[in-house]
Amino acid sequence: MTGKKPESGITQCLEWTTGKKYWQSKMPHLSPTLNEVNGNAMEQAICELPTHKWRWVTKQITGQFAHGKNMQRQGQQSMANCPRCETELEDKLHILCCKAPGA
Ligand SMILES: [Zn+2]
Repeated sequence: MTGKKPESGITQCLEWTTGKKYWQSKMPHLSPTLNEVNGNAMEQAICELPTHKWRWVTKQITGQFAHGKNMQRQGQQSMANCPRCETELEDKLHILCCKAPGA
């Protein structure tokens, strides 16, 4: 990654070469889609973000943010359902795919 020195192993995943290998191992079915990503443009865009937004992107990529599954696991709510469409499990992938108006 050019522009900023990675702060940790997680932020190194923002480097496309490392990030692509990570996502291919976690979700092999996404490999064809990952090959279409312009990794250099993504790295450049992330490096141009202010630090607080860079951390936000890192949380979004790793799934470490407030969604139903995490909130239930942490005891912050009793159910993991999506507040918009009432699907039983709101996880990081559901947030990307939720069909509810306003999602
Ligand atoms: Zn939903």
